[in-house]
Amino acid sequence: MIDTHCHLNFKQFDPDRAEVIQRSATAGVEIMINVGTDLPTSRESLDLARQNPNIYSTAGIHPNSVETASIAELEPLARLLREQKMVALGEIGLDFYDRGQADKRLSQRARFRQIEFFEQQCLLAREQRLPVVLHCREAASELTGLILQGKVSAPGVLHCFSGDKGLLRAALDKGFMVSFTANITYPAADDLREFVDYAPLEHILLETDSPFLPPQSLRGRRNEPANLKETAVFIATRKQVPVSRINDITTDTAKKLFRIE
Ligand SMILES: [Zn+2]
Repeated sequence: MIDTHCHLNFKQFDPDRAEVIQRSATAGVEIMINVGTDLPTSRESLDLARQNPNIYSTAGIHPNSVETASIAELEPLARLLREQKMVALGEIGLDFYDRGQADKRLSQRARFRQIEFFEQQCLLAREQRLPVVLHCREAASELTGLILQGKVSAPGVLHCFSGDKGLLRAALDKGFMVSFTANITYPAADDLREFVDYAPLEHILLETDSPFLPPQSLRGRRNEPANLKETAVFIATRKQVPVSRINDITTDTAKKLFRIE
């Protein structure tokens, strides 16, 4: 299995990072893709990849980081992306969820800033022929629009897929992959389970998004890549195929997308 999206550089793993990486191998996770969320964490992520043969890295400026980032950072980002073991540009995208006032979406100004960073990074991905790792929260219709206009183009993956059927259909039509986390096991996630059923197996990737989103049986705890198999087993049940087939196909898809091996 390949955990296509985790954040092992985050401080939650400071006490026992080496053990976590060791446990993932024991649990059948052969490769992990560690995802950067701004310039400093992208550098940390690359360091981690250099120290561990089974870890690869991405670099990108996450929509929640654009408030404090500057457009001038795209230049060092472009250089960083040329390093060995860098496999994608991300995570990038749109996050219109307002953490300050949960009932409201972000201000127009903040949204425009996210769109500007997103479009610039999509151009960079195209220039460098890298796949994109997309983050989308509370912005499904806007992302659908950008995909249909060709401003965001495959190859790439919509990570931790949420959103709606319209976005899923547009993304699949344009050749994107979708990845699911263990939040598909949460009791309230009927819509996500419907997306799992709808997406063709050949377009699905597995991820943990560690340290976030542990499976239902471990809710409230820190997540780690070793828990990836729970998501694989869950998808196997939904798709009514053996879990070995889920592991084989998703591993193959991830290797092709991120050009690993
Ligand atoms: Zn993430």
